[in-house]
Amino acid sequence: MTAELPVRYCRPKSEFKFDIADIQNFVYDMSRCIKCKGCTWVDHTYMPGARFMTRCPSAAMYKFDAYGAYGKMRIGHAMAEGLLEWNEKALEVVYACTLCGACDVGCKRNLDLEIELALESLRVKAVQDGVGPMPAHKKIARNIEQYHNSFGAEPDKRRAWMPEGIAPAEKADVLYFAGCSASYTNAEIARATVKILQAAGIDFMLMPEEWCCGNILFSVGLLDQARELARRNLEEVRRTGAKILLVSCAEGYRMWKVDVPKMLEISTEELGFKVVHLVELVDEKLKDGALTFKKPLSSRVTYHDACSLGRLSDPWIPYEGKRGWMGCVEPRLKRRRGTQGVYAQPRDILKAIPAVELVEMPRMRENAFCCGAGRGTKEAFPEFAAWAAAQRMEEVREIGAETLVTACPWCKNNFARAIKASADDVQVQDISEVICAALEG
Ligand code: SF4
Ligand code: SF4
Repeated sequence: MTAELPVRYCRPKSEFKFDIADIQNFVYDMSRCIKCKGCTWVDHTYMPGARFMTRCPSAAMYKFDAYGAYGKMRIGHAMAEGLLEWNEKALEVVYACTLCGACDVGCKRNLDLEIELALESLRVKAVQDGVGPMPAHKKIARNIEQYHNSFGAEPDKRRAWMPEGIAPAEKADVLYFAGCSASYTNAEIARATVKILQAAGIDFMLMPEEWCCGNILFSVGLLDQARELARRNLEEVRRTGAKILLVSCAEGYRMWKVDVPKMLEISTEELGFKVVHLVELVDEKLKDGALTFKKPLSSRVTYHDACSLGRLSDPWIPYEGKRGWMGCVEPRLKRRRGTQGVYAQPRDILKAIPAVELVEMPRMRENAFCCGAGRGTKEAFPEFAAWAAAQRMEEVREIGAETLVTACPWCKNNFARAIKASADDVQVQDISEVICAALEG
């Protein structure tokens, strides 16, 4: 009787690797979810009270267990075992999730289950099974294929953001990868970034032909297309000889640092260059004296940790091994727990600006509540994205902040929409704009 049951996940010494192309690699993780809901609640070591105690936007919005990581793990497990077929609702549950990683770090507080990888793999399976991604995602994929950007904008307008009087170098150690958002919809971020580089006396170059980083393709499970793009992009960057790949977008940061190596089965270190977010570079330059803030910013400021710059940005190390009883793995596996995220640098930068009063939201760092925009959510589930941003704005209101700062165009735009809808008296700015203004005193 037992032999007939789908007990693959119980087998000792089962081989597995961190390969999201095959969901069987994560059957153990999905099957071992004990539905404790530790992934839903903010760490109890600093539980900020009943009002802001949840960290999963999906479970909080849809108020049904299927939408939490525990529900998705059961759906994924049943599908991997061939016990459940796709249907409209299952597809919605799998995609109405911001892949924010809050459940992953929450689960690893008690159990070492690979929830984020299982969620990614489930989307890859949806595509492999011919049901995913959502229609809105397919449109973005077509844009990327045709125009090499997610918006379907003219490729020859990609560098239109470049401010007058600043010219990229032919050859430099720093390669600035602006990404689709800063190139087309948030040119203020790209402009501020190169002005900061100029102020710090740093030469920079651009890619001969910059294409989309592939974030949405990867995030919605279009793995083959995302991998092909990653290969092309990596080759192009290596060809420039850059030592530093500079980004000003949190999603691009995670993509380059974690998901490009993940797809190509190499480690972050093996990329051959360092992936650096603007806040890391500015923090360093402030501390070594190359940059100084002159202009005060008299405001009560709070900082929103973008998921992809925080808990999702631990370096990637490929893994292949065996799993024994009780989930013990061999060889030793260094888990990514979101502890190496870029948390301190943006805060140190803001604190260095004269007259800034930095106040923290109850949910921060690894426990930050996602803005709701990323990983294909805003495009496929705009009401969910708007709802999540509105939830986060309640925290901003609670602490009386006047300026909300983030380090990602996706977060900035989603918060801007929420502020407009609620007529809140709060301004949202990308940290590049704040830095630039403080330098231009
Ligand atoms: S995903 Fe992890 S933390 Fe969440 S319910 Fe399952 S076992 Fe608990
Ligand atoms: S990734 Fe984020 S939204 Fe999705 S289930 Fe986990 S905590 Fe919820």
